Amino acid sequence: MRIHFWGVRGSLPTPMTSAQLRNKITAVVQRITPNDLVSEDARENFIQNLPEWLTSTIGGNTACIEINTDDNQIFVLDAGSGIREMSYKYFEEAETTIHMFFSHFHWDHIMGFPFFAPVYDSNFTFHIYSPWPETMKILAAQMEPPYFPANFSTCTPNIHFHLLKPDMTIKIGEVSVMCKKMFHPGTSYSYKFIENNKQFVYATDVELTAASDEEKNDYKSFFANSDMLVLDSQYTIDELFDKPNWGHSTCCHGVDLAQECNIKRLFLFHHEPTYDDKKIHSLLKIARWYAESTGKTAFDIEAAKEGMDVIL
Ligand SMILES: [Zn+2]
Ligand SMILES: [Zn+2]
Repeated sequence: MRIHFWGVRGSLPTPMTSAQLRNKITAVVQRITPNDLVSEDARENFIQNLPEWLTSTIGGNTACIEINTDDNQIFVLDAGSGIREMSYKYFEEAETTIHMFFSHFHWDHIMGFPFFAPVYDSNFTFHIYSPWPETMKILAAQMEPPYFPANFSTCTPNIHFHLLKPDMTIKIGEVSVMCKKMFHPGTSYSYKFIENNKQFVYATDVELTAASDEEKNDYKSFFANSDMLVLDSQYTIDELFDKPNWGHSTCCHGVDLAQECNIKRLFLFHHEPTYDDKKIHSLLKIARWYAESTGKTAFDIEAAKEGMDVIL
């Protein structure tokens, strides 16, 4: 399967500010030496060797991930603001079926739904899955006046809702799908997808430290031996202490969990909206340093970034 990140930010869409852009330009200019300017190759080499936070951005759109399965199915995980960009990918496609899964219904996970052009196109069929019986009512509510100009009734009639039971496995084509209840205000659910012996887990919006020992053990058996785990790591340790029960985790707690669960690739996700690219990359460095300091480094750690593709 191929995993694509359309939105990686938590809580609120976060466009880059002019001040942040200026800080990047200043940091680049401060690094230039006369030798970096002597030829086109030297200039290119200089750019190539800049830190990643200076040459790219983590992205400001909220949670949305697409999975293209080996058996040519399209799965979408949450409909944060990142899903709007995905509209263009499937524009002019005929007879397309999309399976959507919702972790929960906080705004950052549903706000993109009314902006996803295919939901108004009768060439598209949607299967929408969640453990909440009122999913349709919740999605429709954000499109009621005065919140949005187009009512849910203007969407394609080909939208089918499926109620999931936590811990039950369903089969969609060749893919096995399970969901697991997570500790988060109002509850969230993580999803596990298995195809061709590859296991991908999406676990956004979870406060690992607030979960009971029983819940933690339950998470561990659910996450165990995943090839890829996308995990909430919104806060620093300091911030976690200031915001108990806000429903989010830190990168270091994610590293602990990944090590205990024998995860092969950990992707830090649901980035804090007040953190700029430099801060998020510094948290990635901390996570890698922490993993090394514990001596268990047999897994990759990345910061999930808008536009990133991962093949499993
Ligand atoms: Zn969220
Ligand atoms: Zn949430």
